[in-house]
Amino acid sequence: MRRPVADHTAIEWCDSTFNPWIGCTRVSPACDHCYAAVSTPARAGGIEWGAGQPRQRTSPGNWKLPLRWNASRFWQCTTCGLRGDDATFQKAGHPLPAYPTPTSRVPVPCYETVEAALRRVFCASLADVFDNEVDPTWRRDLFELILRTPDLDWLLLTKRIGNVPAMLEELKQRARYHAEWALFDDWLSGRPPANVWLGATICNQAEASRDIPKLLAIPAAVRFLSIEPMLGPVDLSYAFAIPTGAGKGSCPMHLSTICPEGLLPLGEQHLHWVIAGGESGTEARPMHPSWVRALRDQCAAAGVPFLFKQWGEWAPHSARAGGDEGGGLRRGHVRYLTGDGREADGHFRRGDAAVVRVGKKAAGRTLDGVEHTAFPEIHHV
Ligand code: SF4
Repeated sequence: MRRPVADHTAIEWCDSTFNPWIGCTRVSPACDHCYAAVSTPARAGGIEWGAGQPRQRTSPGNWKLPLRWNASRFWQCTTCGLRGDDATFQKAGHPLPAYPTPTSRVPVPCYETVEAALRRVFCASLADVFDNEVDPTWRRDLFELILRTPDLDWLLLTKRIGNVPAMLEELKQRARYHAEWALFDDWLSGRPPANVWLGATICNQAEASRDIPKLLAIPAAVRFLSIEPMLGPVDLSYAFAIPTGAGKGSCPMHLSTICPEGLLPLGEQHLHWVIAGGESGTEARPMHPSWVRALRDQCAAAGVPFLFKQWGEWAPHSARAGGDEGGGLRRGHVRYLTGDGREADGHFRRGDAAVVRVGKKAAGRTLDGVEHTAFPEIHHV
C-alpha cells in the first residue's frame, strides 16, 4: 500500500497530511461522496467504509514522519507566501537565511521576509480522529505523538465534534501514570495544547446549529470550521455573537457554568477561522454563490479569517470564461438554483442563480475576483 502521507499537499489550508489510520463511516450528507473511501490508499489496502468495518492503522514508518517534520526547519515568506522546508525553498530558488543566493525569479522583497514557521499538519484526511469505532489505544498513541511534536500545528478536523469531550476524558483516564496525563488534565481544565487546532466540518444550517455550540464549548488554541462541501446557507451569527452574559468559564449554549448536556466549560469563547468550499468530483452538488458570499461577509464583519478553498465542480455562471452558457456546454451542465439550493423551476426569480459545470480546475478559487486565503494568527508561547 502506498504510504498515505503527504509531505506536501495540494490542500490550500495545510502544509502536510498525516493519516494515523484509514477507514470511516459516513455520518453526514457531506460524506455522501467521500473522497477518502475511494482514494488510492483505501482501495489498495482493501479498506471498506462503514459501521463495523475494521479501520487500518498505518505503518510504523508512517508514524515516524511527524517526528522527522518536527525536527526539520520550516519557513514561510511573508511576501510571496511560499511555505516549506529547506528543500522546498531551494527548489523554488527562494533565498533562505542559510542559503541566501536566490534566483532572478524571486521578487526583491523576498530577500528580507523569510521567517521560521510551524508546519500545519492536517491529521486524518482518510479517517476521523474522533471516530468511535477506532481502537482507543491508537488515539492515545496519536496524542502521544502530538505531544512529542510541539513544532507542528496539528489540525484535527472532525465530523464528530460531539465525541470530543468524552474521548478527551477517556484519553486522560488511559494516560494515568503516563506523561500525557498532564496534557489531558490541562486541556479538560481549560488549558488546551498550543499545537492543536480543533475543527468541525459542517455542511448546512442544521449541522451548524447542532455542532458549533459543541465546538465552542471545547477549549482549543484554535477553533475552526470547515464548511465543505457547502450544501446550504449557513448563518454564523451564533458563533460570532457570543452572548455577553455567558462570561468566562461558562457554557456558551446555556449561559451557565454547569452545562446540562455535559459540554465543557470554556475559557475564551471564539471561532478563529472559517474555511469554505464547493464539492468536486463526478457527483458534485452545486453551491449557490450567495451562500459563500454571505459567509465571506459574515467573517469580514466579525474579523474572523476566511479561506475560500474552491468552487469545486460548479462555478457561478458569470465566473466562466466567456460567460456564455449556450454554445459548447452539454445538457445538464448549466443548472438554476433557488436560494436554498433547490432546482429553480425555470422562472428566474430574485435570489436564483445559474451555475455551470466547468470542473474544479477551471472553476478556481476566486470569489468576485478575489482569492481569500486568510489564516488565524497564532502566537505560540
Ligand atoms: S467523516 Fe470524512 S472520512 Fe469519514 S466518511 Fe465522512 S467524509 Fe469520509
